[in-house]
Formats: sequence, structure tokens, C-alpha cells
Amino acid sequence: MRVEKFGGSSLADSERIKNISSIILNSSKKEKIAVILSAMKGVTDSLIRAAQIAEEGNSEYTEDIENIREKHLKAVRSLFAPKNQTTVITHLQLMFNELEDILHGVELVRECSKRTMDLVMSFGERMSCTLVTEYLNTRGCSAKFIDARNYIKTDNRYGSAVVDFAKSYALIKNIGSLKAVPIITGFIASTENGITTTLGRNGSDYTASIFGAALEAECIEIWTDVDGVMSADPRFVRNAFVIPELSYQEAMELSYFGAEVLHPYTMIPAIEKGIPIRIKNSLNPSNPGTLILNKLISHPYPITGIASIDSIALLNIEGGGMIGIPGIAARIFHALAKEAVNIMMISQASSEHSICLVFHETESKAVVNSLHRELALELETKRVENFELKKDLVMIAIIGENMRGTPGISGKLFSALGREEINVFAIAQGSSERNISFIISKKDEKHALGTIHRAFLENGTDSETTGN
Ligand code: ASP
Repeated sequence: MRVEKFGGSSLADSERIKNISSIILNSSKKEKIAVILSAMKGVTDSLIRAAQIAEEGNSEYTEDIENIREKHLKAVRSLFAPKNQTTVITHLQLMFNELEDILHGVELVRECSKRTMDLVMSFGERMSCTLVTEYLNTRGCSAKFIDARNYIKTDNRYGSAVVDFAKSYALIKNIGSLKAVPIITGFIASTENGITTTLGRNGSDYTASIFGAALEAECIEIWTDVDGVMSADPRFVRNAFVIPELSYQEAMELSYFGAEVLHPYTMIPAIEKGIPIRIKNSLNPSNPGTLILNKLISHPYPITGIASIDSIALLNIEGGGMIGIPGIAARIFHALAKEAVNIMMISQASSEHSICLVFHETESKAVVNSLHRELALELETKRVENFELKKDLVMIAIIGENMRGTPGISGKLFSALGREEINVFAIAQGSSERNISFIISKKDEKHALGTIHRAFLENGTDSETTGN
């Protein structure tokens, strides 16, 4: 059994649907497959927007619904012969009627709870799967629509529900005996009582991983529109290449740091069962893509890839009054946790004279305000100096299993940056040694990525780095 998941961009229009249907058809001839689909491109966003407009008591949400309807009907008109259109249009129309009723209710009560939002969002995947199932049937592939709400059971944390794996796996196992190709709605699930939930934005990858684990698939394929996981952001590095193989840990490190591989938690079910995950391009199916495996991979270069995240801010908390005082760090982190601030990187030198925190730029105000409150006394008595906030930064991480226990990697990294006169504001390396992260100014991003790529990933030595 192989699980194949196609994201929204692979379902953008009738051409893309034709294309992925050929891929499904081909694979289903060779082996048993289960297919997971996202909503058509942009549909989840439109559904959210419609619900938000309706919640304001504004009837203009119908515009979004009309756009979604037109998108689906346009695909139907171009995919189906006129005589075959009635069934699929009837199925879709029933869903649109229900959706309109729900949104009208939202408009009247001017309230859209997270629970209602999950129900509204569920229509995207239900519609795309209905459309593709019917289309595959007209192309001679016996396909069956599967509503994942009957198979994935969760708690009631609407918006990002927590999966009950034991219950879900037991239900999903029944899919294994189906003769037809199951076309399964990604992203959606339900509680024990059948109330609709969702698995968090981009949750269809997670659905694929859950079904893959339950069915003990030999491989989970995630089809996107890029050739695989890149060695660096190709917008900045001309010579960036597709990494052919990655370990689970490397894939997790890369995705934590902005490379849009897979969200780390989506991989957990697959990792637990040791199932390989392959990232493939539906526009270039013959390309092998990137294979993510449960083993150490021997890479030709000292690092595996470079990840970068934009819109980063850094706060430096400094002061003689912090030295040797236990509990300061705990107070800082507790205050930030109360504000739900996500800290992305921390560094503290052993002098304990300063602590540096790194977070998304949008959190700057919350960070500064909450620390002003928490450390008011220390600031007043000058045990802590005023905070220094820096914005317009990027966080870059070099990642790879080969880095572990290899001396000289950070030396080479920072001397390459130093030679190019790129200033580094903060550095962190965990003891796993799979990742060295550092912060630089946004204006140096392209230059730094090019420099590091040449130093580590282009057969060159750092003396060849010339900058961009
Ligand atoms: N359609 C959902 C979203 O846009 C889930 C997914 O595509 O993975 O977040």
C-alpha cells in the first residue's frame, strides 16, 4: 500500500486535476494506493474569509461562496462530458446548500465559534474529493469518496484537534480491504460524537501520515509543485539543488527553520512506524524528488542544507544584576509564555551578563511590554539595563547529520561570513550538533546564503567564496 497526498496547488484547476488523476491512475495500475487530497487552491482561505464576513453580520460573504462555486463548476465543465455532469453537480450543489445555510446562521447570530469554523472549512476537502472521485470514475479508475471524519477521531480542540491514534488506526484499517481507490479528505476529522474538527492549517500532510501509519504503507508520497527539498532557498541561491535523501531528523530540523518540507508533527505517525516519506513534484512526476528515511544518510557534503526564516527580531536583556541570580531566566520565559510568545532561539553566554531571545517580528511589542512588567524592579534599580530590540533580521541555520562530531564546521562557517564582512548578532548550537543557527541582518541574507552554499555545498572551499 502506498499513500499519495496531493496539496491544493496540485488541484488548482481542471488541468492540474487531469494531471494528478493521470498520476493516480498510473499508480493504481501498479499497486494498491490510498489518496489524500487538500481543498482546491485558495478554497480554505476563501471559506475562512466568508465565515469572518458573515460573523460581522454582513451578507457579502456570498461573493466568496460564489467564487468557490464557480471554481468547482468551471472544473466540472472542463473535466466532464455534458452527460456526466449532472451527478457531480448535484453532489456539489447539496454541499453548497448546506454551507449557505450554515453561513446564513453565522450572519444572523453574528458569531462563528472555532467549532463552526471547522465545519465551514471542512467543505473545501469534501468538495475537492467529490469532484476528483467522480472524475476518476469517468476515466475508468474505480474510486471511492472517503470522508476522513468517519476515520480520524480527535478531541474537541477545534482548529487544531488532538488525534486519538488508537481509535483512528482501528477505524482506518478497514480501508485496507477496499477494492476501489479511496479518495480521502485531508485536514478534517471528528470527535467521538461526530462533531467536525480540523487538524490545523496544512493538516492534509498529517492526514496522509496518519493513514500511512494505520495502513502500514510502504511509502507516503507528498506531491507538491517543487522538485523536492532544496539545499537552500532557490530565490536567493542560484545553485540550490534538490537534496535526494534526508533522515527524519534532518527533515525536521529543516522544516523547523522555514524550509517548507513538512510540519514536524505531521511526520510523527510515519516516524513511529518507520515509513519513508517521499516529496514529489506533480508537474514533474519522473523526478525522484526527496526521500525522507528512518536512517542516517551519508551525504557528499559536510552539511545537508541551509534554512532561513525572515521577519525575525531579537531582544537583548543585559545587566550586572543578573549574574549568579537563579530564576531570572525562568521568570523571563514564564512571562513570555503567559503572552503566548513563541521563542525561536535563545543564547546566553557563561558570564550570565546577558540573555538574548529571538522571536518573530510581530511578537516584538508583546515581548517588550511583558518583560517591562516582569522586570520592573530590576529595571528601576538598574540591575537590568534597558532592553535592546533589533528588527529586520533573519535566522539562518545550517543543518546536517554529518556535522555531528566533525570539528571545524562552525569555524569554517563563521570565517566565511567574516571574510564577507557579514555581521552575526547571535549564535546557537544545540548539543545534538545537527544544527547551528545564527542571526544576521535582513540586508545580508542573500549574500550570506550564497556564501555558505558555496563554502559547504558546491565542492568549493571557503577561500572560493566571493559573495553575491
Ligand atoms: N486545506 C487545508 C489548508 O489550506 C489543509 C491543507 O491543504 O493541507 O490549510
